[in-house]
Amino acid sequence: MNLMSEFNLIDHPHRRYNPLNGEWILVSPHRAKRPWQGQVEKVVEDVRPKYDPKCYLCPGNERIGGHINPEYTEPFAFVNDFSSLLNDTPEGSWTDGELFKADSEQGICKVICFSPRHDLTIPQMEVDEIKPVIDLWQKEYNELGAIPFINYVQIFENKGSIMGCSNPHPHGQIWASKAIPVEPEKESIRQLAYFEKHGRTLLADYLDAELKKEVRLLASNDHFVALIPFWAVWPFEAMIVSRKQLQSIAQMNDAEKLALADIYKQLTVMYDNLFEVSFAYSAGIHQAPTDGKDHPEWHFHMHFYPPLLRSASVKKFMVGYEMLANPQRDITPELSAQRLRELPKVHYRLI
Ligand code: ZN
Repeated sequence: MNLMSEFNLIDHPHRRYNPLNGEWILVSPHRAKRPWQGQVEKVVEDVRPKYDPKCYLCPGNERIGGHINPEYTEPFAFVNDFSSLLNDTPEGSWTDGELFKADSEQGICKVICFSPRHDLTIPQMEVDEIKPVIDLWQKEYNELGAIPFINYVQIFENKGSIMGCSNPHPHGQIWASKAIPVEPEKESIRQLAYFEKHGRTLLADYLDAELKKEVRLLASNDHFVALIPFWAVWPFEAMIVSRKQLQSIAQMNDAEKLALADIYKQLTVMYDNLFEVSFAYSAGIHQAPTDGKDHPEWHFHMHFYPPLLRSASVKKFMVGYEMLANPQRDITPELSAQRLRELPKVHYRLI
């Protein structure tokens, strides 16, 4: 490698800009060329039963707090017994001079069981079993978003014990709040500025460019594309972006919801196949706030943030420089995308 040669993104350390949140990431591709000395061990995976009498999410079981789950056969949502937000918190704000500021916050937290089956995960479910999950997301977004004091509905999934997920039963969460949370707020500001300047959404133009470049694409169908964003922080971070500008899940028709189920499965099968392990991640939807305003700038997308780096057990830590300065990665997003694209399309447990 000649460091004096012309700057390129393959050999040279560089910073990449994230236009969605305005932040930067340091990429050190020269370090990914070091031989990996560590072990690449396989983990022994637990075999879970279809029904676990001790699981508080399985049908018919009692939850802490005394509620009994119905014998549900389709995705099922309920108010979290340990909600972080409450809908009856008194309104108010508190200040003590310029430096101390707090606002009361109201909200509703729900849990969504994706399947009555304790032993499944999204990549192991069929597309027509995932579609009802998307239907329920849409219903919850519409109903929670219609509540006057709810201005943002955050739908997300925390998968795997290394992400701090306490129960392996396939499930996700929804936190609906009065305030627009920090990450969607950053993206709202950037998307609005772009839309006002160009009259198109930031992600419509970004997706057009990525479809031409092809290097970071992972999977696609008629309505959605999965890709590794140019500015990805996590080694195998991904995004699902709608081809058409949809401001939110509320605007999706049946074909689009089926296509979202399909791309969600395609991406998570790739993830599981990468290290032949049930791949941990935090994933969630970013979409228009439910604050009663028009949001022509918002373009529906999902983010996937998986922590695994080199094997089923070696994860990336965000420490040191990353906590104090900005995030850094070695393997480039382009190489990560190539690795994921080359994997078999069938789940490894079925081969
Ligand atoms: Zn986003």
